Amino acid sequence: MVICNACRYCEGFCSVFPAMELRRSFTSGDLSYLANLCHDCRGCYYACQYAPPHEFAMNVPQTLARLRKETYAEYVWPRQFAGAFERSGTFISFVTSLGIALVVLLVVGFHSPGVIFARHLEPRAFYAVIPEPLMVGVSATTLGFAVIALAMGFRNFWRDTGGGPVAQARSLTKAVSDVLTLRNLGGGGDGCNNRDEAFSQSRRYAHHAMFYGFLLCFASTCTAAFYEHVLGRVSPYPLLSLPVLLGTFGGVGMLVGTAGLIWVKVESDPAPAAKAMLKNDYALLTQLFLAAATGLLLLVLRDSSLMAILLAIHLGVILSFFLTLPYSKFVHGIYRSAALLRNAAERPAKES
Ligand code: SF4
Ligand code: SF4
Repeated sequence: MVICNACRYCEGFCSVFPAMELRRSFTSGDLSYLANLCHDCRGCYYACQYAPPHEFAMNVPQTLARLRKETYAEYVWPRQFAGAFERSGTFISFVTSLGIALVVLLVVGFHSPGVIFARHLEPRAFYAVIPEPLMVGVSATTLGFAVIALAMGFRNFWRDTGGGPVAQARSLTKAVSDVLTLRNLGGGGDGCNNRDEAFSQSRRYAHHAMFYGFLLCFASTCTAAFYEHVLGRVSPYPLLSLPVLLGTFGGVGMLVGTAGLIWVKVESDPAPAAKAMLKNDYALLTQLFLAAATGLLLLVLRDSSLMAILLAIHLGVILSFFLTLPYSKFVHGIYRSAALLRNAAERPAKES
C-alpha cells in the first residue's frame, strides 16, 4: 500500500487506490476496508511495473483477496465458526448433504410410497408432502438466524473500520448505485482482466445475472406468500402467474450467472488469484447453482410423480444454504456493501 501510495499509477482503476491515498499509515481496520473494497478486477496486476518478475513482486489483487478471507473469519458471529471459512468446501458439502438427507428421510418416514410417488394435483400440493407449519417454521428459523449472524458481522466490520453513523442519505444512494452496477468491476472502464491484459465484461455480466436472478427468486417467494396469506390465492400458481414468472426468470438468471462465473474462474490466469479464496468461491457458486437447478426442475416436474422427492431435495438445498449463509463466501456481499458505503461517505471529502 505504501508503494502504491507513492506510485499512484492505478488511481483511475477503482475506488481502492483513491481511498488508499486518503491515508498515510494503515491500521488493520483500514486494510480490512480496502480489502473488501477491492472487486478483484485484476487491472492493477497487469498494469503494475512492479509485478513479478520485478523484485518487489507486487500482486495487489492476490494480497487483498488473502486479506479479505482473513476478515471473513475475523468478523464472523459467533466467533466459534471462524474455522468454517478455512474448510468452506467441506463444510458446505457436509451441511448440504445433511440437509438433503434429513428432509428426504422426513418425507419418506412420514408418508407411504403411495403418497410419495403419487401425482399431487390438488390445491396446496406441496403441503401434502411437507406440512406448512414445518416448512415455514424451519425456513423462518434458519433464515432468521442467518440474518442475525450477518447483521452482527456487518456491525463488527463497521466498528473495526472506523465506526460512525452507518449512512447519510447521499452516501447511501451512491453506495446502492455502486452495488447495483458493480462499478468497480469496470476496472477503469473496460472490464476485468480475467485471463491476461485483455479486458472483458464477462465477469460483470455473469455476476449481474446471478445477483439479479437471486433477487428475482427472493421476490418470487415474497409474492407467493402475499398471494397465499393476503389474497387467499392458494398454490400451485399457473405458469404465467407473477410468482412463477419471477421464479423462472430468477432461476435461469442464477443458473446462467453461476455457470458463467465458474467458467470465468476456470479459465482465468492463476497468478493474481488467491488459491485459498478459490475454494470458497466454488463452494458458494455450486450451492447457488444447485438451488436454482433443483427449483427449476421442481417447477417443470411439479405435476409428475417425482414432485415429492424433488421438493425434499430442493428444500434440503435451501435449508443448508440458509444455514451456511454467514459462513460462506456469501458474506462478501455484506462486507463489500459496507466498504462501498464507507467509500461513498469518504468520496466527497476527497473531492473537496
Ligand atoms: S499496483 Fe503497481 S502500478 Fe499500480 S499503483 Fe501500485 S505500485 Fe503502482
Ligand atoms: S484488483 Fe481491481 S478492484 Fe482490486 S485493487 Fe486492483 S484495480 Fe482495484
